[in-house]
Amino acid sequence: DFPTCASDYYQLDDLLTPEEKAIRMKVRECMEKEVAPIMTKYWEKAEFPFEVIPKLGALHISGGSIKGYGCPGLSITGSAVALAELARVDASCSTFILVHSSLAMLTIALCGSEMQKQKYLPSLAELSTVACWGLTEPDYGSDASALRTTARKVEGGWILDGQKRWIGNSTFADVLVIFARNTATNQINGFIVKKDAPGLQATKIENKIGLRMVQNGDILLKNVFVPDEDRLPGVNSFQDTSKVLAVSRVMVSWQPIGIAMGVYDMCHRYLKERKQFGAPLAAFQINQQKLVQMLGNIQAMLLVGWRLCKLYESGKMTPGQASLGKSWISLRARETVSFGRELLGGNGILADFLVAKAFCDLEPIYTYEGTYDINTLVTGREITGLPSFKPAT
Ligand code: FAD
Repeated sequence: DFPTCASDYYQLDDLLTPEEKAIRMKVRECMEKEVAPIMTKYWEKAEFPFEVIPKLGALHISGGSIKGYGCPGLSITGSAVALAELARVDASCSTFILVHSSLAMLTIALCGSEMQKQKYLPSLAELSTVACWGLTEPDYGSDASALRTTARKVEGGWILDGQKRWIGNSTFADVLVIFARNTATNQINGFIVKKDAPGLQATKIENKIGLRMVQNGDILLKNVFVPDEDRLPGVNSFQDTSKVLAVSRVMVSWQPIGIAMGVYDMCHRYLKERKQFGAPLAAFQINQQKLVQMLGNIQAMLLVGWRLCKLYESGKMTPGQASLGKSWISLRARETVSFGRELLGGNGILADFLVAKAFCDLEPIYTYEGTYDINTLVTGREITGLPSFKPAT
């Protein structure tokens, strides 16, 4: 048996089905044995580890909960714990899969035609092709519903013009899911754009301090033709993206959980091994207090994350609940990981010790899929019935 980790103090494993436990162990084993040893060099160089794609493909987790079309058809919980296990060792790998699977593939599965699902999902599921998901624009981040990229109807298809920013995987993705404003209806529509489409250009955003392996790009769409068969028939307004965001926010919530677990497990080992003042660091009360606080946070995060999955699986989850999960869990993870960074002393700022890398990787996660503030406002609107996204006039 592969050992359970110290951070699973309340034995969340007991709440998982045999299939969910099996996927958790399979991902954990692959990440610890095959991926962990090679990650730091890619992270430092800010390069994507293409050699890892076949390993992730063999895990058969891409496509997550999607059924059919070569996808694994995992439960939402199984899909979430797989993502956490990726993040426990490397958050960039986890984000690569999140964008590809929980955003792009899920949009095709939920909003695509039967023909689009048959055409695109099987190769995306085996990771022989890669996808990205483009909503954010340079001038429209939190305010994404106001996006300005346009889609103009022409004979046999659509012409897309505009810009996207921050789009993960976009510098090498084969398939780009792009959202644009229909010039006739003024509503948001969704399109599948292929990598080699004339007029499409993706440039890597350099100098990120977190998720350095993820290739985030600025996308330029200049007179890009998309045939009718590649317009997603299920995206007819911004509201339709919420169907996808509700699930993906559940998934994203599990990234900070995985990161915090990885950091705790590393600190727990480190503090028992390293000695100062003639005793292991773990023997000092202040260090124990930090460890216990980290552990308490993680147990609460795990239980909230697990409950969120169950609410979604039973069809009861609301957007506000998903947003509270994402915002609260990432806030607690931020606190947990900063304790971890302190506990490692100087080594807490070296990428070689996992904690510094995790500390930096958490920052973009705190911000993407709706910042902490925006998710707080989504929950605030739901519990009060009063939207407060715009300043009072
Ligand atoms: P802004 O919207 O400019 O916000 C700046 C600050 O103002 C934040 O603190 C925010 O919370 C606050 N704020 C904004 N509006 C309000 C308000 N009404 N009330 C209170 N506070 C407010 N997007 C994609 O489409 N696809 C991707 O694959 C993708 N990947 C990403 C990967 C990374 C590493 C990063 C950093 C971002 C990614 N994004 C992606 C974009 C991400 O979703 C946006 O960065 C995020 O939505 C925030 O938008 P912004 O950066 O423009 O910040």
